[in-house]
Amino acid sequence: MVKIFIDPGHEGVLNGYDPGAVANGLKEAELTLAIALKLKDKLLTYENVQVKLSREGNKKITLAERAKMANDWGADIFLSIHINAGGGVGFESYIYNGNVSSSTIAYQNILHEEIVKTTGWNDRGKKRANYAVLRETKMPAILTENGFIDRTTDANKLKNDSFLDNIAQGHVNGLVKLFNLKKNSTPSGITHIVQAGDTLWGISQKYGVTIEQIKEANGLISDTIYVGQKLIIPIGGSDVRDFKVGDKVKIKSSATHYATGQTIPNWVKGQTYTIQQVKSDRVLLKEIISWVFKKDVE
Ligand SMILES: [Zn+2]
Repeated sequence: MVKIFIDPGHEGVLNGYDPGAVANGLKEAELTLAIALKLKDKLLTYENVQVKLSREGNKKITLAERAKMANDWGADIFLSIHINAGGGVGFESYIYNGNVSSSTIAYQNILHEEIVKTTGWNDRGKKRANYAVLRETKMPAILTENGFIDRTTDANKLKNDSFLDNIAQGHVNGLVKLFNLKKNSTPSGITHIVQAGDTLWGISQKYGVTIEQIKEANGLISDTIYVGQKLIIPIGGSDVRDFKVGDKVKIKSSATHYATGQTIPNWVKGQTYTIQQVKSDRVLLKEIISWVFKKDVE
């Protein structure tokens, strides 16, 4: 499991919160959050990834608290997202200017390259600085400065939601390379877009699934959801048995394909197997080392 900690820079746009740089009708804290949420959504389409954000909305939080959150969680990488200001154009990335691990340097190299390639930003180079979040985190930590909010050419890009998507995608492309991430085999289910007032409990009741099933299908580690978030609701939750590791099961004669797509040969059906792993809509059968849909075993 790869644990990716994302830190949207600054606190938010409410009164008394640190908004970061403000110019051209844009607020840094809002942009960093938008990019971070897109990044999270994209990362959760990969297998074996856990994502945690230092904030998922407006939130008072110090730099030390951000680092501590990632340290306590045992993150594999800390990624702080910022927007630049103060005269310049394009993209730069930072790591700590003291002692860093060789992986920190390797991570910066790959992330930097992928972000520049994906966004087409002017490349201002890989830099080092004594920033608190970089200094106080125990894992490789990289801070990205994604364009200049006070430069019209950059600001015009940052006003465009699909460009924010590109920025998030650039970060994803780097992380995919770093951790050799593989796409989730598409979990079967339907998509629910979170509306104002939705709770995980409410959604679970509406679709007849458990909160745990929703969390598992979406890689959620907390009960926090946000408006606009796309949740996969694993189908058949109420009529599919709750399988556990170690359960003995048989593959139904009606089953046709493994969850990975290959045809299930007839001689495999009707035999008893042991469940080694359980995931949203499928189970891993120990004796044949194959993923089979829950609906196809009994
Ligand atoms: Zn900033």
